[in-house]
Amino acid sequence: MFGKIISKIRSKTMTITTRIEEYPVPGNYTVEDQKIYHEYPRNIAAINAIKFENTLRPRPYEIAGTNPESKILFVDVDVLDSTGRQPYKGDVLIHGERIVAVGEVPDKESLIRNPDVQIFQGRGRTLMSGLGDAHTHLSWNGGDLNKLGELGVEEHTLLTARSAKCYLDSGYTITRCWGAASAKDRLDVVIRDAINAGEIPGPRCLANGREIARRDGELVAGITAFADGPDEMRQVIRSHVGIGVDQIKLSMSGEEVAGAASRSSLLADANRVLVRSRRSDQRKTAISPTKKPLRMDLLERKKAKHVVVPAINWLIATLYEAGSFGYPKEKAEQVGYKRELDEAVKALREMHERGIVVLPGGDYGFAWTPHGTYARDLEHFQNLLGFTAHESIIAATAGVAKLFMRESELGKILPGYYADCILVDGNPLEDISILQDHDRLSVIVINGRVHKAGVQEYVGAGSSRSPKTGLQKSK
Ligand SMILES: [Zn+2]
Repeated sequence: MFGKIISKIRSKTMTITTRIEEYPVPGNYTVEDQKIYHEYPRNIAAINAIKFENTLRPRPYEIAGTNPESKILFVDVDVLDSTGRQPYKGDVLIHGERIVAVGEVPDKESLIRNPDVQIFQGRGRTLMSGLGDAHTHLSWNGGDLNKLGELGVEEHTLLTARSAKCYLDSGYTITRCWGAASAKDRLDVVIRDAINAGEIPGPRCLANGREIARRDGELVAGITAFADGPDEMRQVIRSHVGIGVDQIKLSMSGEEVAGAASRSSLLADANRVLVRSRRSDQRKTAISPTKKPLRMDLLERKKAKHVVVPAINWLIATLYEAGSFGYPKEKAEQVGYKRELDEAVKALREMHERGIVVLPGGDYGFAWTPHGTYARDLEHFQNLLGFTAHESIIAATAGVAKLFMRESELGKILPGYYADCILVDGNPLEDISILQDHDRLSVIVINGRVHKAGVQEYVGAGSSRSPKTGLQKSK
């Protein structure tokens, strides 16, 4: 189905304007259909209960280049800490790469007087963990995917670096951007390593290699690594591992590919295995490399081992927003995407109610799901899947941190955690759509370094910091 749709849009423009107010709500899943739930976020217990096998642990990458002596103080913010606690007033101190104090900051007044401390006046804005995306293609062009195979490696590397920066610009600072297939073998690896070396801006991310599929299952020409049987599968996976990927992706419309190779042998070779399953009859099943579809109750029994990443925005945008790219809604409905979306919504709502962890990850990078619009997933989680805004944010922060198996140091605003945070102009619990508005992301910090802060952060009331350096102006 993927292939069909892509062939329809090959000559269309690469730009798209996202206007959420024009969004048709798909299906019959309206607000009154939801059981509105305002209490403690339900998905916290489910996320905490997950116990991935230790063999799945990704390498604990660090980002270099933060001055260990640097200090950043956020004053008067609403702290949304991703523990489930309601936002509360406080201050947050960052020292080097880490958050060292939250709420009451010791010696606050002397820190404010210290010219070496960078001060941001929150003025009641929300300080929260940077967001995470659990299914990402940094190397996808946001346009005609058919061009990916033809793109020169030099241009493609630049494009991938731009996507990485775009994640950061979009508030995906901690970004457990979970590399879900790279269009060329080493794009993800090279960009991951450059980010970690502090050479280019980008999120914390894991690298993938080319998607692995059978020869008759290629998504787009030139971006697939083929494997038609267990021997070839092992060979391809070993080759991916050899170039430094953190995970592999199997495109599994023909499940015999994975069924033939044993799961344990795959896992022994690669850190992690992702399996894409877009067939509607598999939507209710586990994302798991087993031969037989698993039913919801089996998934529930195994919920401590699995997360589900539905890429829900892709389906919605394909149905309702791909028309201007030559793929009308009627066609999308005819080939079954409407039914798929309806089934997905129903199944994902049930998963959330049953305590199966569902995480945002939007498959961004198609023409009609362009880079930079990642936070749409969070609004879909609230509007369609029965999540509260708080639960959506928990999923995108603490939940993706769990997927990275670094939940004790990423995804929360707590002392000891990495300083990956965003200062948001407004309260995303009241209106989660503000996270899609880059102008409302006033300050973006990753690994204790300021990636973004507008000039107003330095010249506004109560601040006497130079806009260029963040250091105090000489008197
Ligand atoms: Zn994908």
